[in-house]
Amino acid sequence: MSRANISEVLIRNAEYNYAALRPIIFEIMDSLAGDRIQSNSRVVIKPNLLAPASPEKAIVTHPLVVKAAVEYVLNKGAIPQISDSPAVGSFEKILKESGIKSALKGMDVEYREFKESVIVDVGEPFKKIEIASDTINADFIINLPKLKTHTQMLLTLGIKNLFGCVVGLKKPEWHVRAGVDREMFARLLVKIYQAVKPSLTVIDGVLAMEGQGPGKGGIPKKIGVIIGSRDTVAVDIVICRMLGINADDLLTNRIAKEQRLAPDEIIYDGALPDIKDFRFPEITPVVFGPQRLHGFMRRHLVQRPECDDSLCKLCGECWNYCPAAAITHKRKKLHFDYDKCIRCYCCIEVCPHGALHTYETLTGKFTRRIFKR
Ligand code: SF4
Ligand code: SF4
Repeated sequence: MSRANISEVLIRNAEYNYAALRPIIFEIMDSLAGDRIQSNSRVVIKPNLLAPASPEKAIVTHPLVVKAAVEYVLNKGAIPQISDSPAVGSFEKILKESGIKSALKGMDVEYREFKESVIVDVGEPFKKIEIASDTINADFIINLPKLKTHTQMLLTLGIKNLFGCVVGLKKPEWHVRAGVDREMFARLLVKIYQAVKPSLTVIDGVLAMEGQGPGKGGIPKKIGVIIGSRDTVAVDIVICRMLGINADDLLTNRIAKEQRLAPDEIIYDGALPDIKDFRFPEITPVVFGPQRLHGFMRRHLVQRPECDDSLCKLCGECWNYCPAAAITHKRKKLHFDYDKCIRCYCCIEVCPHGALHTYETLTGKFTRRIFKR
């Protein structure tokens, strides 16, 4: 009989007060990393650095969580490196606006944007994917996600945070390849997780995000928790339970389970808060039915991105990022080509002014009511 795969998850109440937070992070790290971090080893710390935003917006991993992780690594005599490949804005700007640069002032840490990739063969259906070489060459990887909602994937937690290990413009390219199929995208995320193999995951759920996350459309929500494990899938499963949903509602969990990457059992160290009123994002309906109706369904049943012109600053982030080149601007207004648009919602994610949102056509609303979708 094969042995059950059991994962331990540590759950600690926390707040952003360094004197109180530091011992919590140290205790979690000691328990999860222990002597696995060797002196002089290179430790890549991967926070969520989605876009330039101050800590109270809950868009990026809080600077004090990053600081405690860096201090822990330095105490071990190892070399900490903070890295990500941000979707929006320069890496430098994010480090500054997030408060990470100032919180870590004077600490011997290397900041290195993921730039170089190596090709990793992850098998079918994606075959070869390009992963940041820094993660592949690291001695130890600390995954430091932020607990947030995600309009495309429901939540962005431990596994989704590793999408940042796909370098720069390769990200939208993968969005195109995975298309509008959320399940396919979730499969890709699980493959990236397998390729990166984080040594441990510690998620910042002190000030989380609910609503139409993960960018400026989301709303900060105080939960007051830090959750860590050597097993990223276990962290993601436990968070779903904490938020009152079935673990399989998060597609990456379901796919990890299918691929035998999920634990058979999870041991809790600490009490899991019971969050009753968490607001999940509106997720676009999955395309269904005969092929010949897909054009109609995509136009009407899959919500489309729309711009609030009063908030748009024509900064260009969305059209520069759009993987389908579906956004143009004319007479100081944004225009979407909805036939080209693959509904990846990256534009909503990257808009620094919260000007974009999802919109469902009247035909779509009506059809959905008839089919009760
Ligand atoms: S919608 Fe947002 S990202 Fe696009 S141009 Fe307007 S402000 Fe910039
Ligand atoms: S317009 Fe927005 S949702 Fe459509 S493909 Fe471009 S980035 Fe994705």
